[in-house]
Amino acid sequence: MPRAVAFTHPREAPICITLPDEPVGPGQVRVQVEACGLGVADFGFFQLDALPRQPLVPGLEAVGRVAEVGEGTALVPGMRVGLTPLASSCGVCRRCTGGLERWCEQAQFHGWHLDGFLSESVVVGARAVVPLEAGDDPAVLAPLFATGWTALSAVRAAGLQAGDRLGVVGLGGLGHLVVQCALADGLEVGAVDVDPTRQRLGLALGASPLAGKLDAVVVCTPSTQAIQLGVRSVARGGRVVLAAASPSVRFDLSLFDTVMRGVTLVPAFLGGRAELDEVLARSRSGAIVPRITRVPLDEVPARFWLLRDGGFEGRLVATMP
Ligand SMILES: [Zn+2]
Repeated sequence: MPRAVAFTHPREAPICITLPDEPVGPGQVRVQVEACGLGVADFGFFQLDALPRQPLVPGLEAVGRVAEVGEGTALVPGMRVGLTPLASSCGVCRRCTGGLERWCEQAQFHGWHLDGFLSESVVVGARAVVPLEAGDDPAVLAPLFATGWTALSAVRAAGLQAGDRLGVVGLGGLGHLVVQCALADGLEVGAVDVDPTRQRLGLALGASPLAGKLDAVVVCTPSTQAIQLGVRSVARGGRVVLAAASPSVRFDLSLFDTVMRGVTLVPAFLGGRAELDEVLARSRSGAIVPRITRVPLDEVPARFWLLRDGGFEGRLVATMP
């Protein structure tokens, strides 16, 4: 029976639990998880008055090895794979047929509607599984499958061209990957974070301090202050991409400023398959290298507060024994 870390009660920190062994059905695989990325969105469940399911195993992105395959899958036991959070969608609506399955009315996600990946082993549909080459460090690859994917799609959603100036607000797991994606696209990047460790990382990656009006801004931390700063920092007519989501955050903007300055708010969450393939190709070429802080699975409950308090570099990644 796999050990996992889960939220078991609203407003209580997650704890280690043991999950029942789930059978592997047709079209499914069992994956032995090696590493699972964690972020502020996962922390957000702690702040809700009611959990979307109880217990809720968080975790939207992971890397592991296929342990068992159901009928009708092309995957092979032993294969190294990445796990993405979209479990299912209707398949026939305009979003699904237009490459926007993640916004299907019936979309179901691991780590939200279904158990996530912060577990020694998970059973997932083959749709959530991306075959990988063996050999790379699973903990470094894990952040690519939701955070890195969202980072590239956020940069694309900004709609800029090489030489344009992109602002990045928040330089944690998501923001530091947005900086890398934007620089690789030939954009100039101005970036800011209230946490000195994260700000240093952004500058070390090649960003400048946030200053002046930017052609577009990507907000990478889920707070109303960050979104307000993004709207203040963007030039008239520019886009503010909201790339960080948390189930517990609301935001408040001046309607008059937003409309009269022609600011467009654009969401970014995951992306199209072509963007995921591009993120993985950039990772193989070394153009995108997630910075990570490792935490063994058993220590996640005790070190859970890092997600709120910061002071660490890059994405927090839980590693399984
Ligand atoms: Zn649909």
